Amino acid sequence: MKKTVTTLADGRELIYYDSADDIVRDAVDPRPLDAVSTSSEIRRDPLLGDSVAIASHRQGRTYHPPADECPLCPSREGRHSEIPDTDYDVVVFENRFPSLAGDSGRCEVVCFTSDHDVSFAGLTEEQAGLVLEAWTDRTADLAELPQVAQVFCFENRGAEIGVTLGHPHGQIYGYPFVTPRTEQMFRSMESHRAETGRNLFDDVVARELADGERVVLEGEHWVAFVPYAAHWPYEVHLHPRRRVPDLRELDDAARTEFPQIYLELLRRFDRIFGPGEPPTPYISAWHQAPFRAPGREEFALHLELFTIRRTPGKLKFLAGSESGMNVFINDVPPEAAAQRLREVASE
Ligand SMILES: [Zn+2]
Repeated sequence: MKKTVTTLADGRELIYYDSADDIVRDAVDPRPLDAVSTSSEIRRDPLLGDSVAIASHRQGRTYHPPADECPLCPSREGRHSEIPDTDYDVVVFENRFPSLAGDSGRCEVVCFTSDHDVSFAGLTEEQAGLVLEAWTDRTADLAELPQVAQVFCFENRGAEIGVTLGHPHGQIYGYPFVTPRTEQMFRSMESHRAETGRNLFDDVVARELADGERVVLEGEHWVAFVPYAAHWPYEVHLHPRRRVPDLRELDDAARTEFPQIYLELLRRFDRIFGPGEPPTPYISAWHQAPFRAPGREEFALHLELFTIRRTPGKLKFLAGSESGMNVFINDVPPEAAAQRLREVASE
């Protein structure tokens, strides 16, 4: 893997990740861009004790541009996009419309491929492996920033999720605080340790493997299952068998197998609702340990993949109970979801 760091016309950082070691990336961004001005502000909710990023500058962001004006395609034929070169493998750059910026953290965009019309599930194993390298490298770089407490790599896929750009891409958030979900997992982890003397994540994975009913697929180094109390209609948690706190600690064997397992999962997701259905909208979320949290070594890096579609043409909305009270109602039993995800395996 070759990494080339450069800057865009407005000073934002852009990084090329290439599989060829001899590639030269020296294209210059010729656009007359004003410096990015952001007004991102973190406000603490006194009742819930959580934080809200108020980011009013995002209202002017690019919204469903036509394919020939895609800002994530390479720059070609006199048209200049966010990526100065005429081609790329994987590219990461600072978001021009960040939810978090400066002292409030950092937001980056990850372009998975220069091909506008493919989805992550359509990547080759080599391409998916390069994306994993990019996620890992960004986690390592952002760990060095004092204002970043936790790194979240994720993909929102599909217009139903609110994706405003069709080009296959994900995002990386560097939060200036430990997120509420992670804090909650730490609390559960600590009380489980106090009660049993064991690691919570190890016990959860062991229980799923022993039970087997919700296991979706097993590799030599990764395990995927629908959790016992899945919140979403189709939800899969993917864990490396050897528990590690974040992407940096994955060993070579797990890295090598990851693309195979993850691509298979994504392809199954697209088949859940049968032929003729549009691609399944999903959120794919990497959970990593915060960098400076006590007990971080106990945390288990894992990926949570879920869709908000519950049946063809119907979405699960976060309505009264979910949005008002944080109580999820799931119409698809986790065992049935796992059964479906096993049925739709590739031949
Ligand atoms: Zn594009």
